[in-house]
Amino acid sequence: MDNLRFRALGIAMTRKQHVVEFPNLKASEYFGELTFNKAAMREYLTEEAFNQVMNSIEKGEKIDRKIADQVAAGIKAWAISNGATHYTHWFLPLTGATAEKHDAFVDPVEGGKGIEKFRGNELTQQEPDASSFPSGGIRSTFEARGYTAWDPTSPAFIMDRTLCIPTVFVSYTGESLDYKTPLLKAIYSIDKAAVDICQYFDKNITKVFATLGWEQEYFLVDNALYLARPDLVLTGRTLFGHSSAKDQQLEDHYFGTIPQRVLAFMQEFEYEAHRLGIPVKTRHNEVAPNQFECAPVFEEVNLSIDHNQLMMHLLDKIARHHDFTVLLHEKPFSGVNGSGKHNNWSLATNTRENLLSPGKTPKENLRFLAFLVNILKAVHDHSDLIRAIIASPGNDHRLGANEAPPAIISVFIGTQLTQMLEAIETADKHTMAKAATDSDLLKNLPKIPEILLDNTDRNRTSPFAFTGNKFEFRAVGSAQTCAPPMIVLNLIVADQLRKFKIEVDALIAKKMGKEDALFQVIKKYSKESKKIRFEGNNYSVEWVKEAAKRGMSNRKTTPEALQAFVDKKTTDLFERNNVLSKRELMARHEIGLENYTKKIQIESRVLGDLAGNHIIPVAIRYQNTLIENVKGLKQVLDLKTYGKLSQNQMETITEISEHVDKIKTYVNEMIDARKAANLLHEPDEKAFAYCDKVLPFFEKIRSHADKLELLVDDELWPLPKYRELLFTR
Ligand code: ADP
Ligand code: MG
Repeated sequence: MDNLRFRALGIAMTRKQHVVEFPNLKASEYFGELTFNKAAMREYLTEEAFNQVMNSIEKGEKIDRKIADQVAAGIKAWAISNGATHYTHWFLPLTGATAEKHDAFVDPVEGGKGIEKFRGNELTQQEPDASSFPSGGIRSTFEARGYTAWDPTSPAFIMDRTLCIPTVFVSYTGESLDYKTPLLKAIYSIDKAAVDICQYFDKNITKVFATLGWEQEYFLVDNALYLARPDLVLTGRTLFGHSSAKDQQLEDHYFGTIPQRVLAFMQEFEYEAHRLGIPVKTRHNEVAPNQFECAPVFEEVNLSIDHNQLMMHLLDKIARHHDFTVLLHEKPFSGVNGSGKHNNWSLATNTRENLLSPGKTPKENLRFLAFLVNILKAVHDHSDLIRAIIASPGNDHRLGANEAPPAIISVFIGTQLTQMLEAIETADKHTMAKAATDSDLLKNLPKIPEILLDNTDRNRTSPFAFTGNKFEFRAVGSAQTCAPPMIVLNLIVADQLRKFKIEVDALIAKKMGKEDALFQVIKKYSKESKKIRFEGNNYSVEWVKEAAKRGMSNRKTTPEALQAFVDKKTTDLFERNNVLSKRELMARHEIGLENYTKKIQIESRVLGDLAGNHIIPVAIRYQNTLIENVKGLKQVLDLKTYGKLSQNQMETITEISEHVDKIKTYVNEMIDARKAANLLHEPDEKAFAYCDKVLPFFEKIRSHADKLELLVDDELWPLPKYRELLFTR
């Protein structure tokens, strides 16, 4: 039988492994060779230009026009000597994917010849015709211009013979149309706010960097099988498919030996990533079959986010060399684990300290506590916003599905820190009085055991967990960009630190000792944010009940969660810190809702199409064979034997009809629900209609189709099955 599935399986089964030729070099010899890094800048820039670029990176100083021309000339020379023929501004519009528009360096000159050109203004600013990017109504049609502007803090790089220049993307009227603009503002905000707090402890701290180390999970599927699944191709996930008899129950994939073909892919991917300066470090098998993870060494957050974007692109590109397709979707297969992207986040100083690392001296100890409780308080006060920034139709399948943290945002800090905060909360006037002098108070602070660092109890069920010297934000989805979670996290902590300083300074102004004042406010915040702390099993039913008792939100769906973008608390927060205006937030809210609606709409169409033209016809064809068989039996058997032996077939014939009937009915009802939803005009009404009225049909239709998969002759079934998708490698 030559259906699409069998053709695909035939191709997948006879794959030859793609052999990659690597140069005989140490990784350190090619690491970063495709980036315009410091060494390249030194070589290709004048001293004056080099110094200005460094000042711009370190202090945010503007690069003047004359110097921009020099820098452009240097980058051009470097890029051309590395084989680049084109250049592009590379930015992060609100689609969540990266955007680029390539221009050739070469310009014609007299006599039919050409010359490579690249001027300062082409480096620093471009005006892409950007009217098709989502703007949430910000860019009206009569003013469709958008500008990209160079971000010198993320080095330019060469990919596919094209010089890529990381940029921000703003509208003609100055509103941001991307993720990088608010990110850079949030980074500025946390730097200033955290430095101010550090100044209580150490005058040498003059700069604080947020750091990010992401862990990217993904699935690999053989490319031929992928192409035979229209649902994977069009939606990134399987909308049908009965679970495989064996999937992850034996837990034999996690940390197992990496299959050869996958390893060949990973090696080439890592080689290319290293050439681009992406410090990928760890690779391993994940829990589900054909699921893998990759993690880098952490970096400054802006660079780390660009590297994650680049890396997702690279995964996809290199996988194709090995005839795999990478699935970054949060839930490509039902019944096995989905994929997340843990965001490990911390704060580093110019003095090379980690502010989230419990210190050795009492003074460092107090500083650590100050940052810890401020983070707890920030997450406590803005938990709905944190939920909102990880909302996506894909992530809705994960959050709360017993494999990923739930939609309830809580923080895990481990037993020792919990005990410590409890001791602080109950420290009464008497203990405080005993600690008459500042230095005594420090001595009396409960000591953080040194083993904490390597030995934080691991709670893998928490959406936001302290892991010894950093927080791990685990609820982020695998397909999402890290930018929104990082904008919000840095922003809420910056805002909180600023409030903290005001309260501490007020106490100091009333003649309270500095450390005493710090301690008082730490104690207050610890108490006020207690509700957000949870040390137990986040996957349990008890926690859902307990959280409800604590009055915590549990916003299960994207349309519901997105609401927090436009709450007054959120708009005030963003405006007060000059990160996004209310108008920009409303635009982002609208884009989020529209994106949700469109994705569910596409899934619904694909589901209806596949049910109607892949599954039902095949079920009927098989049913006809059974009917023929029963008719034949009647001719050749005596009535009694026939009555007995045709029973099974008769049952199957009826069952098939029942499933087909149910599928048809539900598909029709789903189409009606979609039509009704499409008539709605307000983006939120529409998204809620898709969520509440259209989406519920998916499971109903699927369950009948998946039962048919078990009934129908394997040779007829058109869609590659779970066992084939998950175990071909
Ligand atoms: P897990 O046990 O959750 O798999 P890993 O230890 O493998 O975690 O990965 C942790 C990630 O955290 C890595 O990307 C690492 O670079 C990152 N990380 C470590 N320290 C910091 C830090 N101070 N700031 C940000 N990220 C960090
Ligand atoms: Mg992790």
